[in-house]
Amino acid sequence: MRAVEAYGELVRRSRERALLGSCSALLGWDEQTYLPRGGGAYRGDQMALLAGLHHERAVDPRVGALLAEVEGSGLVADPGSPEAANVREWRRGFDRVSRLPRPLVEELARTTTVAQGVWVEARAASDFARFRPSLEAIVGLKKQEAACLDPAGDPYDALLDEYEPGAKGRDLAALLEALRGDLVPLVAAIAEPGRAPAAPALDGDYPVDRQRVFGEAVASAIGFDFEGGRLDTAAHPFCSGIGPGDCRITTRFDPVDAFDGFFSILHEVGHGLYEQGLAAEHQGTPMGEAASLGVHESQSRLWENLVGRSRAFWSRWLPLARSILGGPLRDAGLDAVSAAVRRVEPSMIRVQADEVTYNLHILIRFDLERALIGGDLAVADLPGAWNDRYRADLGVEPPDDARGCLQDIHWAAGLVGYFPTYTLGNLHAAQLWDRADADLGGLEPALARGDFAGLLDWLRVRIHRHGQRHRAADLIRLATGADLDHRPLVRSLRSRYGPTHGA
Ligand code: ZN
Repeated sequence: MRAVEAYGELVRRSRERALLGSCSALLGWDEQTYLPRGGGAYRGDQMALLAGLHHERAVDPRVGALLAEVEGSGLVADPGSPEAANVREWRRGFDRVSRLPRPLVEELARTTTVAQGVWVEARAASDFARFRPSLEAIVGLKKQEAACLDPAGDPYDALLDEYEPGAKGRDLAALLEALRGDLVPLVAAIAEPGRAPAAPALDGDYPVDRQRVFGEAVASAIGFDFEGGRLDTAAHPFCSGIGPGDCRITTRFDPVDAFDGFFSILHEVGHGLYEQGLAAEHQGTPMGEAASLGVHESQSRLWENLVGRSRAFWSRWLPLARSILGGPLRDAGLDAVSAAVRRVEPSMIRVQADEVTYNLHILIRFDLERALIGGDLAVADLPGAWNDRYRADLGVEPPDDARGCLQDIHWAAGLVGYFPTYTLGNLHAAQLWDRADADLGGLEPALARGDFAGLLDWLRVRIHRHGQRHRAADLIRLATGADLDHRPLVRSLRSRYGPTHGA
């Protein structure tokens, strides 16, 4: 078979797997939005069937044979071509799934399903001892998984690679340690008693239907296409790119807090714009998929924090927010709203953390999960190690494990190597913002006019359209002209949070 024909067959198979994946995504979206409670068990069967079909096709030895036909051929001679990028990523995916023995995959699925139920109970009772055997089993299985994927390599790297292809734990550790060195004193200065002005929370009565109207108005203005997407509510906000012309975002509304649901919308809109900006002609192949979780998160954080928490943004949208949302916002000035959306307070809970302290929560999880997988930390010692770090980095003391090491579902779900992608997103976002600001001659005046087209077009051209043509680190370098660096984020936080908080 000629390379061109083999490539065509690989594209066909890739699109078929993408179709199966989109069916699972749609069922997953439904499960978190509209599925009646009674349908849960059958939904589990539906999802398992689709996952099995997907897996069967992914490990088909024929894929390996087709890849061998194409690799080394003239078709992929130019590493920057769409063909070369697709073949590179198909190879990576095929090797990953083929190296994992089926009994291990099934054992991981079974163990993490049970562990998530145990985790819910253990967290409710704040009883780490109840969760400990599950976590020990998961750490053991993830070590086995890493050993299968790369017997000679660093086990953490093998796990990290699933979410952030090409990234290395050791490089990341150096980068994040430098970030920590700047963040800890910044947070301490902001949190120092008497220095931080008490920003009004502007809590009140904000009807949920009005919050939705305001959120959709801003989402549309930013560029989210509601002809090819929709907004629903879910307990944990997420974005799911189901397929061409169908991107679903979710949020949750708090009737007392006008901003909680709104910033969740902005965050998920950022993810949605990336999904809607992927190249349609490459749909169903790596060239039509997001580069990495870290790059995906850079898009959500950029719109949520750098756009949505800016004074310029609210100078444009506050009048509309006042008229639609009413409540205490009706009498709030721009200063009060700017302060309310940029409150900083060291806390114990990651998902409630502000933009300044957020990364410290991630760095703690990154170090601890690396130590767990590397064998430097026993599961039994996790609560103590967790609390020590919260005391040292954030100056807070979790009073129990529910507000400590039991707060996140990730490890119970087998997601190890996932946490650092959140901070990578924040780092990328700051670098992208700086470069776009320079290229476009200043972003703030455009935000104040409600003009988002320049920034969105810039992101479309620099990031969205490329899909997986480049690995994340290369994509960011090409987009910004600089290597991954912690300093732009630190500068950004100091400039936006320093003066108003006396830091
Ligand atoms: Zn996100």
